Amino acid sequence: MTTRPHSITATVLCLITLSMVQISGCARASQPDVASQSDAEPVIVESPISSNAYGKWEGQRRIDTVVIHYASAIYWFNEDFQEIVGEDGRAYANSISLTPQNLANHKYDWQLVKAVFEAYGVSSHYAIARDGTIVRFVPDNDRAWHAGRSKMPQDGRTGVNNFSIGIELMASHPDDDPTVKTAEDAYTAAQYESLNKLMAMLCEKHGIEYVVGHDEIAPGRKTDPGPLFQWDRVRTEDHAPVVCPE
Ligand SMILES: [Zn+2]
Repeated sequence: MTTRPHSITATVLCLITLSMVQISGCARASQPDVASQSDAEPVIVESPISSNAYGKWEGQRRIDTVVIHYASAIYWFNEDFQEIVGEDGRAYANSISLTPQNLANHKYDWQLVKAVFEAYGVSSHYAIARDGTIVRFVPDNDRAWHAGRSKMPQDGRTGVNNFSIGIELMASHPDDDPTVKTAEDAYTAAQYESLNKLMAMLCEKHGIEYVVGHDEIAPGRKTDPGPLFQWDRVRTEDHAPVVCPE
């Protein structure tokens, strides 16, 4: 999702209120655990997000879609955001001595982006850092709140959060960030590589049929991952993951 403070909807505002009340009770792990993985699976850093930022799912959730997003922390010092950031987010920002002057060096820090999500009461299942590190915020079987009002162009299904996995790449866009000009500025080779490893794992576990952009399921409302994302590196013409067997 793009996380611009001025794009808060009434629904998100309700969630924010909830987060503000409860987020301070959620301890942030200073050293996230690395889950043990088999050879076939990518290494995933486990960093569970606040329970106010996603929904538990009863029973087995049927998953057939991956939604690609980007997010950054470039709006961290905006007044609107400073009013809602949680105690843990503030503590983390202090621990890295974050200032408006050095924010550019930290704008893709996934721990800051996670604090932004917690403040807004939104989430993704996974985040992929610039160096390719894969982080899990929400278990696959639970419903992350990443898509919002949405509709699949392929088959018209709405409520895409119900049947999808959301993946946030730490990135920004020329509209938000003038230092991003080219496809290579926007997303790193390591991010594409990790995204494909992660999708291979998701295919094996769930059977993924579609890889879509947030901008494709919420046109006019969302712009991520944007025109600088190189779709041919991750999906076929039928929008299936390139790494998944037919
Ligand atoms: Zn998005």
